[in-house]
Amino acid sequence: MSTDEIENVEAFRQRARAWIHENLRPVGPVALSLRRERSDEQELVAVARDREVQRMLFDAGLAGICIPPEYGGQGLTPDHQQALNDELAGYEFAMRLQVPTFTPCLAVLLEFGTEDQRRRHIPAILKGEEIWMQLLSEPSGGSDVAGALTSAVRDGDEWILNGSKVWTTGAWWSDWGLCLARTNWDVPKHRGLTVFLLPIHEPGVEVRRIEMLNGNKEFCQEFLSDVRVPDTDRVGDIDEGWTVGTGWMFHERMLYNSPLVTVPTGTTRGSASSSSALDVARDAGRLADPTVRDLIGEARMLDVVGEELQRRIGDGIATQTMSGETSAIGRVFVGVVAARRMTIQFEIAGAAGAAWSDDDGELTHCGTDFLMRQTSCIGGGTIEMARNVISERVLGMPRERTLDRDVAFRDVPRASSR
Ligand SMILES: Cc1cc2nc3c(=O)[nH]c(=O)nc-3n(C[C@H](O)[C@H](O)[C@H](O)COP(=O)(O)OP(=O)(O)OC[C@H]3O[C@@H](n4cnc5c(N)ncnc54)[C@H](O)[C@@H]3O)c2cc1C
Repeated sequence: MSTDEIENVEAFRQRARAWIHENLRPVGPVALSLRRERSDEQELVAVARDREVQRMLFDAGLAGICIPPEYGGQGLTPDHQQALNDELAGYEFAMRLQVPTFTPCLAVLLEFGTEDQRRRHIPAILKGEEIWMQLLSEPSGGSDVAGALTSAVRDGDEWILNGSKVWTTGAWWSDWGLCLARTNWDVPKHRGLTVFLLPIHEPGVEVRRIEMLNGNKEFCQEFLSDVRVPDTDRVGDIDEGWTVGTGWMFHERMLYNSPLVTVPTGTTRGSASSSSALDVARDAGRLADPTVRDLIGEARMLDVVGEELQRRIGDGIATQTMSGETSAIGRVFVGVVAARRMTIQFEIAGAAGAAWSDDDGELTHCGTDFLMRQTSCIGGGTIEMARNVISERVLGMPRERTLDRDVAFRDVPRASSR
């Protein structure tokens, strides 16, 4: 389709606005948080509603804005996606389908999947029928992604996977995972990996929940025991998983900047915003306190700077005026700012940050949010790893020293072995 045939952004905006007002429920400020007061039953209802909203968007021609029409998308531009995000502000959206389903998982399928894999899965994702997870981190270490110990052994037209993945958010209610596995132990670690598509509820996949200190049980650990995956579910070439993996991590760092993701403008990355700081101050009876007013101002400034920085990075990467590695700057900002916002709320809450009662309104979350604040600096790859990317691949500084780069993975000393 030539650019003249593409729906004009303003016309698209009007169409989206009319449909949203007619079909979606208004909601208060939305936070993408790991805070949970919901029971499992309530969480499953919320997942079902997200699938339903995604299906409604699909039927209305508002899903997969930047995805080619042959895979069920709209074939439009990041500007159309931004218009949709703007119009969605204040309305419900399919939160659980954005990260990691649309990015990085769908983005990886689009970039590295076979034609059959794309046609099989991308329309199903756009309709809300498939929710995808990243099976990347392992108990032996998450940052050293190339050090994966989960093994895949060829058996005719199938592969047999064994090992364990961990910290998979939401695996218990999702459908598919992208799984990085080791297919060759006799070459250096980066050269012996392969990526597979894995149905999460396949025989041989055991999903166990992990409870965090705030009672949230979204994290899971998966144990893979002789799980059979057809070769047609392999992504990319055998032993070339690191090529897929570097693209995968780029899409992961893009997070909510990605033009593949539908997130209402103003939705907070992290779990707090200036409006939450305001609510905490109101419930604490400290709105008139000058120190508290400064903190609310700081939270507001972080919101504004964050929106603009992420927009600039997103535009720069989409128009190729910035390298893809610049996404690491957005990643660091999101992590540091989310942790700072939770610290701000904790400071405003005063004593209620340490001891609260059920009728304390917004104050009831400040203590546990403060204790959980580092998750924003870890999930989606740690900010230390993002800083390494900025130093080596954006600023061109010398590479980090590694001792295992040219050693066959089988011979690399490690605490646990296969
Ligand atoms: C909210 C959240 C959601 C997550 N969701 C998923 C998911 O869906 N799927 C999934 O697979 N994983 C997920 N994870 C796991 C996450 O990707 C890992 O926790 C992360 O990559 C760090 O790995 P690790 O915990 O093993 O820490 P380690 O790798 O052991 O790191 C420990 C510390 O050392 C630092 N460090 C390690 N190596 C270096 C280095 N080379 N240079 C500088 N510093 C270094 C780290 O930055 C960190 O501070 C999630 C984590 C969180 C918190």
